[in-house]
Amino acid sequence: MIWYPYEQMKTMKAPYKILDAEGVYLYTKDQKLIDSVSSWWCMIHGYKHPELTAAIKAQADHFCHVMLGGLTHDPVEKLSAKLQEFLPGDLDYCFFSDSGSVAVEVSLKMALQYNTNQGRKRPLVLALEHAYHGDTFKAMEVGDDEDYHFAFDQKEGVMHIPTEIPALEEAFAKYHDRLNCFIVEPLLQGAGGMRMYDIGFLQRARELCDQYDVLLIFDEVATGFGRTGHRFVADLVLPDILVLGKALTGGYIGHAVTVANHKVFQAFYSDDDRKALMHGPTFMGNALACAVALKGIEIFERENYMAKIQRIEEISRREMADFTDPRIREVRIMGGCTCVEVYDSADLEGFQQFAYERGVFSRPFLKYMYSMVPYVIEEEELVKIFDVMKAWFRR
Ligand SMILES: *Cc1c(COP(=O)(O)O)cnc(C)c1O
Repeated sequence: MIWYPYEQMKTMKAPYKILDAEGVYLYTKDQKLIDSVSSWWCMIHGYKHPELTAAIKAQADHFCHVMLGGLTHDPVEKLSAKLQEFLPGDLDYCFFSDSGSVAVEVSLKMALQYNTNQGRKRPLVLALEHAYHGDTFKAMEVGDDEDYHFAFDQKEGVMHIPTEIPALEEAFAKYHDRLNCFIVEPLLQGAGGMRMYDIGFLQRARELCDQYDVLLIFDEVATGFGRTGHRFVADLVLPDILVLGKALTGGYIGHAVTVANHKVFQAFYSDDDRKALMHGPTFMGNALACAVALKGIEIFERENYMAKIQRIEEISRREMADFTDPRIREVRIMGGCTCVEVYDSADLEGFQQFAYERGVFSRPFLKYMYSMVPYVIEEEELVKIFDVMKAWFRR
């Protein structure tokens, strides 16, 4: 039996069974649904995109996977070269992994070892309140092989601050000589409640990180590839390490990448084996994933997705302008994300089924009703999503 995510299995309602999917649509036995959440925010090109499917098929005719330990191949070489050119600044060193959570783990290990490799003890991580960086827990710690662990023995803990400059300055003033990194979901905190904040906070963070040689990590697993209305938030403020996932493969196969800049890479580059990064997911650099990611980036550029996202934001603002209800605390919009936050989560109970019956797949959580649409959505489809959201409050 399937154990479903984030659900109390005893009380969960039966999931909708998908028989087919194409473009922005999911098909069940009796419904055609606009996927308003892009399958957990990753399906930016829509389903069954002929070019993406063809890229996977073509690679599968050669091989689906080979390990990256001691082997390499064209798709992974081409993807790392493409990312090097596509990503801003000197974010040039791509460490691949199979999921966003693992890629975040890699970034944190990099930040810690960046310091131990230079003989510095920097055991603390600074993060944001309401942060979400994945679900992994303790795999390495329960392992028992000194060769894999020694570089990470110093880790101590995490401190959380709100997205406010005074709190940021205070944290750096107090702890700067103990911090190895500051990790953030830049501009848009997704799973923590679609919280949006100002670029000024990140600019100040960059200054402080430079001043104290603390690595700045952007977890753009959710925000990368245009979701905030910027290609990457890293285009605005350059991090030392950038983590990408979700839309990297257009949602076709799970894959992620941790991209380091020259400064980080140089701290590992040595004649000393003990300064190497001891990490290696079985499926890193998977050939199908790399092939589809390459094709996805090609389409993203060729079809001018940034203009599509700008249009999505304009329509979202137009449709949600002046929409209020006593139960709504706030409507927030940024790029391809719209969030309606209510005061009481009970006010969203039943919305998923309500939307289903009207041809929209939605998955509200806690106090948040939101859309994170595929970028290929047409205006009338997008308007329909907002109509269904508004109808829920007017019923
Ligand atoms: C989804 C997400 C992750 C985790 O990615 P998985 O592929 O689910 O492991 C990490 N960080 C952010 C910001 C995310 O939104």
